[in-house]
Amino acid sequence: MKAPISSYLDTILDEVRYQDAGSNADYIPELANKDPNSLGAAMCTTSGHIYSAGDAEVEFSIQSISKPFIYAMAVQEHGIDVVSEIVGMEPSGEAFNELSLDREGHRPVNPMINAGAIAVTQLIGGTGATVEDRIEMIRAFLSEMACRQLRVDYDLCDSELQYADRNLSLAHMLRNYDIIQDDAHDAVVSYTAQCSVMVTTRDLAFMSAVLANGGVHPLNGKRVLEPDVCRLTLAVMSSAGMYDQAGRWMAHVGIPAKSGVSGGLLGTLPGQLGFASYSPRLNEYGNSVRGVRIFKLLSKDMGLHLMAADDRAGVDAVRSIVTYQEDTVVTLQGMINFNSAESILYELSQHEISGDHVIFDMTRVSGIRRMGRFLLKEGMHLLEEKGFRISIVDPDDHVPDYRTVDGTEIHVNEQESAPFATEREDDRYHDDDCPDPDEGPQPPAWEG
Ligand code: GLU
Repeated sequence: MKAPISSYLDTILDEVRYQDAGSNADYIPELANKDPNSLGAAMCTTSGHIYSAGDAEVEFSIQSISKPFIYAMAVQEHGIDVVSEIVGMEPSGEAFNELSLDREGHRPVNPMINAGAIAVTQLIGGTGATVEDRIEMIRAFLSEMACRQLRVDYDLCDSELQYADRNLSLAHMLRNYDIIQDDAHDAVVSYTAQCSVMVTTRDLAFMSAVLANGGVHPLNGKRVLEPDVCRLTLAVMSSAGMYDQAGRWMAHVGIPAKSGVSGGLLGTLPGQLGFASYSPRLNEYGNSVRGVRIFKLLSKDMGLHLMAADDRAGVDAVRSIVTYQEDTVVTLQGMINFNSAESILYELSQHEISGDHVIFDMTRVSGIRRMGRFLLKEGMHLLEEKGFRISIVDPDDHVPDYRTVDGTEIHVNEQESAPFATEREDDRYHDDDCPDPDEGPQPPAWEG
């Protein structure tokens, strides 16, 4: 039986297959001659599960989809301050190859337009690197993201270079303002080779999933990028990734994305998944016609719009508060972030706690954010000040120490709480066995 998600991708492809509007980029034969009917889609979750449909294994040149990755690579290598000296992060609202720089620093406005991308490529490997060094570092980095060895198509690259007058003029302009130091021709050669790295739709889904996963490759667990570099890259993608269609894209699709002139389209849902599509026919903005349609369907069907609050309410952080004689067990669940910690504190403040012992059962907690931990400890501290003894069941060590922000140590008892621990395995995998939260767990045997 086909996995439901793969079948869903097949359905999406069937829904857009009939659309034959737009046309292949035709400024070089290698793009003009690509089969305009090719159609592929792939999705990779942050757990490394990959689903694909259609022509997901067909190779095409990465083109502008390389831009966010090389920006991330440069920020990782030099830090955002150095990178910001040569490129901004404002949406331009202009075409990708516009000859535009900001007024003050004469920097390209963002790394997703060609001027910005050419400037960023020159940072890779530092000023001492040769063109060959840079190309190899870029190829190797993109290969690491794709989890397979990628190659540069030098025939395509040569072909692009014959039509590179506009990019050359951008490079001369950048050199004139000291944004790049390389010879203008060299700068365009490294940038064009970067655009000529060959990928498949599946490769792009993996690469996107690395960004979605905060820089850790979901397939091999290797850290490729720092989390703040991924966040920054996704932020720039969301405001400038779709050429001059970026505003409408965020309104209607709401997925940080980057498209390329060969017909690829890559989108990233932070913390969830990477998605990619391939269909070479482009609209007037240079984005794949069927790719845009696929992303619209995906965003709507799966509720993936980044700005949608409806699907993100998640589970209540407090599963139950149950009192047995002197003991009150507060069972927490899910991810404890600012929002859920706030709701825990609120629930506790509304609850009339009898007895003198509060036990926090964190067996069902899947993760905790810094702010969540901070607020939770402050809540425990407050309870202690009110005269309650505090215990915690924390098998995954979500709260490794009990110091509050002012240095006070909360006197947490780990031994006394053990009999209250939720039976995690049973509860997680056999939903039917979950105790009805209204009834609460049975009193532990030693209570008698
Ligand atoms: N090689 C192309 C250029 O720089 C890439 C353009 C694109 O994908 O938008 O002109």
